[in-house]
Amino acid sequence: QLNIASADFKVFAGHKEVGLFRTEGMYADRVPKMSDVVRSLKSSLLRAAGLTIRLFDPDDDKVRPEDAEKFAGKRGMGFLLETEAGSSIAREQIRALLIAVDRLATEGRVDLEKKEIRILLPMLITAEQSAELRKRFNAIEAELLADKTIHCVRGEKIEFGAMIETASAVMNLEEITEESTSFSIGANDLTRDLLAISDRRLLMTGQRYDWLSPKVLRAIERIIDVAKEKKIKVSCCGEISRDPMGAILLTLMGIDALSMDASYIPDINYVLSHLHFDEWKKFARKDEDGKSKVEKALAK
Ligand code: PEP
Ligand code: MG
Repeated sequence: QLNIASADFKVFAGHKEVGLFRTEGMYADRVPKMSDVVRSLKSSLLRAAGLTIRLFDPDDDKVRPEDAEKFAGKRGMGFLLETEAGSSIAREQIRALLIAVDRLATEGRVDLEKKEIRILLPMLITAEQSAELRKRFNAIEAELLADKTIHCVRGEKIEFGAMIETASAVMNLEEITEESTSFSIGANDLTRDLLAISDRRLLMTGQRYDWLSPKVLRAIERIIDVAKEKKIKVSCCGEISRDPMGAILLTLMGIDALSMDASYIPDINYVLSHLHFDEWKKFARKDEDGKSKVEKALAK
């Protein structure tokens, strides 16, 4: 799946699912007009086979330092639910999405039975946050319907996915599944939180590969295990997905989808299509001495 930061993305054969639309780019220079947001979302919905849109998350690598005050030091759901600026952005984004979906479905250009549309809730920590957003989402849809901006209630076709990207969320996974139908592992922020790394640019520019640290991998394994147990989808949209070693480990752990910038897809596809699980199992099988080849190699 693709990570994108604007509606101007290229879809290429076989990779038509957008696993993460980072919407912050739309707000980089100024607050966009509602009609522009609707247009961007319509164009993305038309071209992507499935679209996952992340609600605005004011991280310091995505917003201008001069705007920092507006965000009151908050991130993700904390910002979107607890601040005036955040509530207003969440409202605009939800309105724009509902309008875009309604227009395309009414014109018969998008089949909501076939196309998965998901809102990602950034930095989600509790099930209540997700329930509160659903409440606001439903109220916005009712308003749009009442003033005839939209024709039909279609909001129930839009899934809510929880971004698991803090240690706190990892401790609350079971509770979070009560209100979310999928997990998306935000391994960049998760790595930063678990390893107390202050400057995330080090991670994003590939100067450090801390996402392969055992502490991070153990947390990711737990997230995948809980998702499997609760029978919900789990994907990963952090940089670990485009790291060949990370992609192999996550695939072995049972991840359902990896999402990354388009430029990494050919290499990761190459790596994953050459995984021979059945052959690999032989190395894990125990020899007569009760130890597997892998164990013996690691003991050296
Ligand atoms: C992440 O934290 O891993 C993630 C995908 O979100 P972003 O990098 O945009 O914070
Ligand atoms: Mg993040």
